Amino acid sequence: MNIIFVAPPAAGKGTISSLLASNYDYKHISTGDLIRNEIKTGSKLGTELQEVINKGELVSDELITEMLKKELTKKENQKFILDGYPRNVEQAKVLTTLFTKLKINDYIVLYLEVEKEIAQKRALGRIVCQNCGSTYNKYFSECQPQKEGICDKCQGILISRTDDNEKTFNKRFDTYLKVTQPVLDYYKKLNKLKIIDSNQTAFTALESIKRILGVEND
Ligand SMILES: [Zn+2]
Repeated sequence: MNIIFVAPPAAGKGTISSLLASNYDYKHISTGDLIRNEIKTGSKLGTELQEVINKGELVSDELITEMLKKELTKKENQKFILDGYPRNVEQAKVLTTLFTKLKINDYIVLYLEVEKEIAQKRALGRIVCQNCGSTYNKYFSECQPQKEGICDKCQGILISRTDDNEKTFNKRFDTYLKVTQPVLDYYKKLNKLKIIDSNQTAFTALESIKRILGVEND
């Protein structure tokens, strides 16, 4: 079963996607990555995309659909997680049309539901080792380093990489919910929506997802 992944900031989407990719053979398709990769190839489409971005404009649904079509017809992408798209109902409709054309019926939309306070702690508490890249979180005891500010693995220095403070995070989170709600309503009507509680750990959320995918005994 294919997955369209929808989640507010710091809901754990990154962690869960990579667990699904490594344990269940899912291909992670992110529209952001597709755009960056296409530009790197220097193709005609890539040049077009670069021009759009240089002008500070958003990449049109048409161009994104073109890239997605190319990606979804690849043999190695028969089981995919779509990440970063659709962001609004217009795009969701475009995607439904594309799926119909490509005969992709077997998919669900996973929405990771998380309380703002918890997401905020996850986002603002995240600290990264500047030497080896290991991540920790100063707000969750199970994610804290043994010695404050020092990496357990390599003794490197831990730094915070977020540009957010409490206020900007809350704004980003609220905006996300507002923009996304109509997308969720759209998929609910199509009977495709599954809501996952992501207030505990990524592993707890993954357990619920495994049940939905029917892979819990793997
Ligand atoms: Zn380290």
